Amino acid sequence: MKNNKTIYLDNAATTVVSKEVVDAMLPVFTERYGNASSIHSMGQEAQALMEDARKVIANKINASAEEIIFTSGGTESDNIALKGIAIANKDRGNHIITSKIEHPAVLNTCKALEKEGFKVTYLDVDKFGLIKSDQLKKAITKKTILVSIMHANNEIGTIQDIESIGNICKEKNIYFHTDAVQSFTKVLIDAKKVNVDLISLSAHKIHGPKGVGALYVKKGTKLAPIMSGGAHERKVRPGTENVSGIVGFAKAVEISKEEDINRMSALREKLIVSLLKIPNTHLNGHPQDRLCNNASISFHFVEGESLLMHLDSHGIEVSTGSACSSHELKASHVLLAIGVPHVKAHGTIRFTLSKYTTEKDIDYTIKIVDEVVNNLRKISPLTER
Ligand code: PLP
Repeated sequence: MKNNKTIYLDNAATTVVSKEVVDAMLPVFTERYGNASSIHSMGQEAQALMEDARKVIANKINASAEEIIFTSGGTESDNIALKGIAIANKDRGNHIITSKIEHPAVLNTCKALEKEGFKVTYLDVDKFGLIKSDQLKKAITKKTILVSIMHANNEIGTIQDIESIGNICKEKNIYFHTDAVQSFTKVLIDAKKVNVDLISLSAHKIHGPKGVGALYVKKGTKLAPIMSGGAHERKVRPGTENVSGIVGFAKAVEISKEEDINRMSALREKLIVSLLKIPNTHLNGHPQDRLCNNASISFHFVEGESLLMHLDSHGIEVSTGSACSSHELKASHVLLAIGVPHVKAHGTIRFTLSKYTTEKDIDYTIKIVDEVVNNLRKISPLTER
C-alpha cells in the first residue's frame, strides 16, 4: 500500500502554519506594515496589533502583558533568560543549575557561560527523564543564582514537575527559568501559581510562523539585555519587532483548543500501544507524564536512520532525535541520560503528532512501521540470532 499523502509526524521539529494564522498575518505584510516604534498612524496601528498579541500570549499563561517580551524564537528566549540573569546577578553568585536533558539552546548557552567564569551543575535524570528534587536541593550553593529546567522534553516528551522545582527555588531565593517551547498550549502553565521567573516560548511549534517567540519575565526580575540597540521590548530585546510574526503567534495561541489535546493523546496512545506490540521495542520517557503528541520508541536491532529513510519512502516523516542533532550520527544526549544504551538509542524514532493528525494517518503508520521493522530486522547485522 503506497500512501499518496505525506503523513507528517515530526511536529516537535516544527508544525504547519494554520490557515487562520496565515490569514491573520497577510494584511500585516501588505497593508498594516508599520514599524511599531513609529509615531504616525501606521506605526501606532502596528503597536496596537502587537500589544493585542502580547495580551493573548500573557493570558494563556496567566501573566500580565508587561511580563511578555517578544523574541525571534525559543533559542533567543533561552539565551536572554540564561545570559541576562547571569550578567545582571553576578554580584550575587556565579552558579547555575540545569539538567543533562535540556535542549542545545540551554546546554550550549551554559557552556558559553562556563567560558565566562560561571559554574554550571548539570543534574542527572531518572529513567523517565525526571530530575530528582533531593539532587536539586543538594546542588544548590550560596552562589546559585539560577535554575533552568525545561517543562517538557523535546525528544522523549517527559513533563517535569515545575511546581515543585519552583517551590525549591523560591525557598532559596533563586531565579527559576523553564523552557516551555514544547509544552506551550499543550500543558497548562499558570505563571501566578507556579514560582517561575522566566518562561521561553516559540510560535513555530504550535502552528505559528518560524522566527518568533516570547520570554515571560516576572515583574521585578533583574535581567540584563544581551544585545545592544534601541529601547524595544522593555529595553531587554532591541530590534524592530516582527509584527506579522507576532500577530501570527497570537492567532496560533487563540485557536489552540483543549479538545485537540485530548484527541492527540488518544491517537498517541493508540500509536504507542500498537508499536509496542512489535517484539523488542520500548517506549522512552514517562508513560503518563508525557506530552500529548510524543511517542518516542526504540526498535531494538534496527538502525534508526534506515527506518527513517524507509518510512520517508512511504510518505511518513519522523525524526530519530531532536531536529538539531539528527544531522549528526551521535546518540542522543537525552536517551543516553535516561540510560538507553548507545545501540538502542540509535534505533529510536520520535513520532510527534499535531492537531491535524488523523486516525487514518496513525493506522497507516502502525502498519508500515511494523512491515519496515520486520524487513529491516531480516537483514540487520544487529539482530539477535
Ligand atoms: N527549546 C526546546 C525544548 C525546543 O524543542 C526548541 C526547538 O526545537 C527550542 C528550544 C528552540 O526553539 P526555536 O526553534 O524557536 O529557536
